[in-house]
Amino acid sequence: MRCLAIDIGGTKIATAIVQHNQVQQRKQIQTPTDKPQADQAGSLHQTISEILHAYQGQFDFIAVASTGIINKGVLTALNPKNLGGLAEFPLEESIARHTDKPIALLNDVQAAVCAEYLNEEQQAVKNFVFITVSTGVGGGIILNGELQIGSNGIAGHIGHTLADPNGPVCGCGRVGCVEAIAAGRAIEAVSSKWDSPCSPKEVFERFRQGNQQAVELVEKSAKAIANLIADLKISLDIQKVVLGGSVGLAEGYLPLVQHYLTELPAVYHCALDNAKSGQDAGLIGAAWWAEHHFKNN
Ligand SMILES: [Zn+2]
Repeated sequence: MRCLAIDIGGTKIATAIVQHNQVQQRKQIQTPTDKPQADQAGSLHQTISEILHAYQGQFDFIAVASTGIINKGVLTALNPKNLGGLAEFPLEESIARHTDKPIALLNDVQAAVCAEYLNEEQQAVKNFVFITVSTGVGGGIILNGELQIGSNGIAGHIGHTLADPNGPVCGCGRVGCVEAIAAGRAIEAVSSKWDSPCSPKEVFERFRQGNQQAVELVEKSAKAIANLIADLKISLDIQKVVLGGSVGLAEGYLPLVQHYLTELPAVYHCALDNAKSGQDAGLIGAAWWAEHHFKNN
């Protein structure tokens, strides 16, 4: 079975034919978020039409991994304002105008956990979580070997669980989410106000040089992620967590998360590793899940 996989990110749309978890004919274009809000939806309809025609006759089904939340085929987000002119975009309908092949849609982190799960010994690891710590904090959850999507597509938004009731206001509107403390954007909100302000990337360079201010900021982020992992372990009996994203994969970050997790009682511990799938995780994961989904439904 050949899959046309489409990964819609905030800035880029990647497309490819995926077969046997291998990516072929990969292409990448800009997401039309640089256009005026009123033109964005029309522009995405046009882009989707061009993608479907470019790969015409080369696929048996379509799998989409998208930023935000896919609720019953429609693109939305915890805070729809963050999607600008693409809020409530009818993604499934837009694709179905151009093809009668089956279509499956996921959010991009739900797709990424599937790609990461392909690297695991699936008979042994049934309960598995992928956490991306990047601009925001996202997650994908596999329980008993099955991806959790939820009835409204929200399952896995673990970056919006509570880390500190006295913490900053999160982009979702709640106070003190993990994302508001651990994410790249949260790190930048603090480091941009330092006497010697810097980017999150520079924060990590200073952290590795032992700069006390940077060490404290990175430690706070890592501790929030360790506590998130402990919450997942105790509530869902998760066996393994893999960490991805620009912060999650930054040198020195995973050992720090491991350190804080190890400080907790043993019942909270679980296997921890770096994510391995890289930039094609959304394409590979969505294709794998879609094939699995069509076979079982
Ligand atoms: Zn939040």
